[in-house]
Amino acid sequence: MMHWSLQRQSSWVQLAGHQGNFQLSEGGEVLKLYSEVEERCLDSLMRDTLRPFVPQYHGLVTRGEHCYIRLEDLLRGLRRPVIMDCKMGVRTFQVEELITAQSKSSMRSDMYQKMVKIDPSAPSAEEHAQKAVTKLRYLQWRDTTSSSSTLGFRIEGIMMDDGSIQRDFRNIRTLAQATEALLFFTRSHLDILVSFLSYHSRLLALSEALKNSLFFRTHEVIGSSLLFVHDHSSKASVWMIDFGKTTPVPNMSQLLHDVPWAEGSREDGYLIGLTSLIASLGQAISV
Ligand code: ATP
Ligand code: MG
Ligand code: MG
Repeated sequence: MMHWSLQRQSSWVQLAGHQGNFQLSEGGEVLKLYSEVEERCLDSLMRDTLRPFVPQYHGLVTRGEHCYIRLEDLLRGLRRPVIMDCKMGVRTFQVEELITAQSKSSMRSDMYQKMVKIDPSAPSAEEHAQKAVTKLRYLQWRDTTSSSSTLGFRIEGIMMDDGSIQRDFRNIRTLAQATEALLFFTRSHLDILVSFLSYHSRLLALSEALKNSLFFRTHEVIGSSLLFVHDHSSKASVWMIDFGKTTPVPNMSQLLHDVPWAEGSREDGYLIGLTSLIASLGQAISV
């Protein structure tokens, strides 16, 4: 567990991702290191039915040698915010990564080491003997070590109101375990039931907006998160963030988002994750 309170100059806090990628602007916006893929998504999203669920995008700004994407700070106005980052989808690698991995079918000892560190019994006898695995094998295995492949989302981190951060939610596999984590996440709220109901209705509204979204139908959404934020007393809200690996599907095709991924498809299972989260909140409400 890490403590952030000393490093925090405002309510802004970064729960996931590379520390060097973010800055706060004087205007209280969040500056995220520019990526063409993400900028294109945010630009389209400002003209899509999903706009109310995405931080407002205010264009680009240059700081020193780097260009940044200017985003609305979703923590603005919150006192001692409680935040949860849920990475959505059954698959967290891009099909392109897979294709590159297949073309270079070289054996990776670094990925073997990472695998063994998490689960010494994961590699096959042959992989153990070679002390290496292919990247393809590693990417596919990695999503089975969290709730991504079973529930369609995984909790990347939770920050409580005292600034403490928890990142280890790897043991979560079932809906009941996810519900437990949600109960932990909301325990400091003045009225836990109110926070659950707010989250629940916001996710139902998101699910409606996704149904009507041209952006969603035509994009493979990988590694994107739902950011849950609340503070001691005010209403809870959820936002879609992180579009660095969200790409348009080729040839005007469309995705369903509610079916598992199979090799050859571009399905991401985003809605499988959303359905799990809604069900989990439903369970939490009835506890
Ligand atoms: P990764 O790809 O490793 O998940 P990343 O560098 O793409 O990370 P994001 O996932 O976009 O970064 O954001 C990292 C964290 O920063 C989030 O978990 C959240 O805590 C915070 N964050 C990002 N965007 C905003 C925002 N607009 N307002 C408030 N907090 C934000
Ligand atoms: Mg992220
Ligand atoms: Mg990212």
